[in-house]
Amino acid sequence: MDETLQGVGVSHGVAIGPVRHMGTAALEPPEERIPVERAPQEQAWARQALEAVAADLRARGNLAGGEAQAVLEAQALMALDPELGADVRRRIAVGSTAARAVHDAVASFRAVLAAAGDYLAGRVADLDDVRDRTVARLLGVPMPGVPDSDEPYVLVAHDLAPADTALLDRTLVLGFVTEEGGPTSHSAILARAMGVPAVVALPGATSLEEDVVVAVDGSTGEVVVAPSPELRAELRRAAEERRSALASASGPGRTSDGHRVPLLANIGGPADVAAALRAGAEGVGLFRTEFLFMEDSERAPSEDRQVEAYREVLEAFPEGRVVVRVLDAGADKPLGFLTPADEPNPALGVRGLRTLLDHPEVLRTQLRALGRAAEGLPVHLEVMAPMVADRVDARAFAEACRSVGLRAACGAMVEVPAAALRARAVLQEVEFLSLGTNDLAQYAFAADRQVGAVARLQDPWQPALLDLVAAAAGAARETGQGCGVCGEAAADPALACVLVGLGVTSLSMGPAAIPYVRSALARHTLAQCGRAAAAARAADTAEEARAAAHQVLSGE
Ligand code: PEP
Ligand code: MG
Repeated sequence: MDETLQGVGVSHGVAIGPVRHMGTAALEPPEERIPVERAPQEQAWARQALEAVAADLRARGNLAGGEAQAVLEAQALMALDPELGADVRRRIAVGSTAARAVHDAVASFRAVLAAAGDYLAGRVADLDDVRDRTVARLLGVPMPGVPDSDEPYVLVAHDLAPADTALLDRTLVLGFVTEEGGPTSHSAILARAMGVPAVVALPGATSLEEDVVVAVDGSTGEVVVAPSPELRAELRRAAEERRSALASASGPGRTSDGHRVPLLANIGGPADVAAALRAGAEGVGLFRTEFLFMEDSERAPSEDRQVEAYREVLEAFPEGRVVVRVLDAGADKPLGFLTPADEPNPALGVRGLRTLLDHPEVLRTQLRALGRAAEGLPVHLEVMAPMVADRVDARAFAEACRSVGLRAACGAMVEVPAAALRARAVLQEVEFLSLGTNDLAQYAFAADRQVGAVARLQDPWQPALLDLVAAAAGAARETGQGCGVCGEAAADPALACVLVGLGVTSLSMGPAAIPYVRSALARHTLAQCGRAAAAARAADTAEEARAAAHQVLSGE
């Protein structure tokens, strides 16, 4: 009998493949002593392991290219450092095992680096990674970080942070399964951006055996362990039929009675543009610029590097709309050189726009780079700030845009309930709103978006969240300004209809969801969307809201 586990499906489609676990940091090797005659053998193992780690880091650098390559090359040099090698040999000569000697030698190097001022202290994490990789190799346990595999696999992890996944090989990852995380966690967002199926909040995910084949259904949230060949074939056939039916629909987003709702893509950088174009995105509704800022762990990318990355995206949508979010650092997207390390509650601390107002030079450089990137292009560039809480925040951002002479519409993300409730005041300062429903749910329900145990409260069908959407969209309608949704709520086809019924003017989502949402809108009138929205808001729970809206939309 196949065993079926139930999690939360967050990215459509079916993936079938062997499990590979995201390696966790290597354990501390035991303090056992070795007889002196074993020393030469252990010394050879240590040298081979350090050399293999360096070669592997270089190979990954070649694959990644750009600034990531420089970082990985520097790390490879650490592994080959002659002083480190000599210290390891000395420790083995007096009785350490190879793994313990590497561990302890790195610890003493680490202390020197950590005390050597900001720049070198920032390299400590890279050195730790060299240690973990070498120790893992010597102990024969999985490498920390993304698995090494030549064949496609289903990535299983406790949860995934953006930094974990920067180097993921998109041709190898068939799908994701995580133990933690909710529908708006980064694992979910990343899966949708990559267009691979994903299930999150799956109890026991990390206990799945390495190499066992699983079938991941990203729509139902089911994960079948060791499915029979018949079931595999059946699941593949059903997923394929659905995909080809959707792929045949195209064109701009509109309801069946012709009400236009631009369908835009959420992207993390130039690498996501191709998928957005394939899905027929009418532009970009959320360009998350954090990934660019993660290329170097010590400093922001230069203005020229930013111009290059932004221009690549802007050129892909001639005459289209591209909404760029300025850097959203902090909380679930920490950046070492900007995010305070000692906040008791990072999600409630200095993050998003607050970070940028504390570092005005970072904001101004980014805005200048955006202006330069758009020069001479017919694209409609828009910029927006994350985590705007009130009119004061909105004004500060608008002033920053004006101060660099940026010729672009300037907007505010509504992610804090206060901004939704007072949207009219925020709209006095900026030209448009974009609802970030992921954070809006987190803050409305006091439910951390990274914690699987509170996924229920992160459900975007929660009627209170819909009330906040209605408040912001209503204010924008009165003033005649745009109010889009760029949170993950827009990627649920039925909920997308409800959002349109609440007055939302555009929808932005991971490219893979666009065909599903396009098809749902095309099957319903604006009035039906309005009725579905009213029915959902009249409910008391997310389940009831979902059921009530589905009933209206299915015409029952
Ligand atoms: C959101 O919070 O809804 C959003 C779109 O931003 P992010 O998921 O990047 O925080
Ligand atoms: Mg957000």
